Amino acid sequence: MRILKMILVGFLCISVLIHSGCALDFLEAEQPNPENSEPSSEEITQQEGPTAEEIAQAEKEAELRKERIDAIEAMLADPFMVLVNRDHKLSSDFEPSDRVSFRGGYPLNKTCAEQLGKLVDAGKEAGYHYVLYSGYRTYSSQHNKYYNKIAYYEGKGYSNAEAVRLTDLYYAPPGASEHQTGLAADVCIPSIVNKYGELHDSYAETDEFKWFSTHAHEYGFILRYRLGDEQITGYAYEPWHFRYVGVAAATEIYQLDITYEEYIEGLQKELADLKAKDN
Ligand SMILES: [Zn+2]
Repeated sequence: MRILKMILVGFLCISVLIHSGCALDFLEAEQPNPENSEPSSEEITQQEGPTAEEIAQAEKEAELRKERIDAIEAMLADPFMVLVNRDHKLSSDFEPSDRVSFRGGYPLNKTCAEQLGKLVDAGKEAGYHYVLYSGYRTYSSQHNKYYNKIAYYEGKGYSNAEAVRLTDLYYAPPGASEHQTGLAADVCIPSIVNKYGELHDSYAETDEFKWFSTHAHEYGFILRYRLGDEQITGYAYEPWHFRYVGVAAATEIYQLDITYEEYIEGLQKELADLKAKDN
């Protein structure tokens, strides 16, 4: 009887456990949990990482990135591509190392002079006659030019602030002129200069300007101070001012139809993005 009681109590206990869910939980715990289960052989292949093809592709991309990084760094370090403006000034002792007189006239950097010669000769074949009206300028000559112009406006009765504002439209403060690099050339035609007594905007209306500004990049020159970009370049429109930067960069800038400031900024940004991808 005692044994029967014990069996009955044991049975009841198991029954209670089953109905309370404890036993079920216990049983379920024995079942394989899909989340904790070992991955199948198919899943192992997927989790192992990139395929050989993907690795090769990533390596190729890294190689191309490195090539582009090297190319951009070389461009930004190229003395022919120096950026000079009101925010990027040259030191007072900066002088272009390799200077020659352009056909007996104004001095220019030698490469710039050679390329300008080819451009002007090509123009001549097309029936146009160009003259160089300014080339290399020293820091001190720019200094004098700038402050003399301010004095000129003050002499006409303008306040100093107004005289500086008017001077800044066309004249660069010392160190901020591209002419100090020996890579800037003011090119125009005698009929315009004779008519106005100076370089004049109306040059932009001539066939000579149209030809020159269309072909300059083929010889490494860009129109530096474009119409409508005064806020970016910091200078008024100067259809006569061309800057030598090399054929590759000039062609790219011409095709992109942007200012030199935007081009350099674009290169710097691209370089930073490429380097960030490598990290
Ligand atoms: Zn100029």
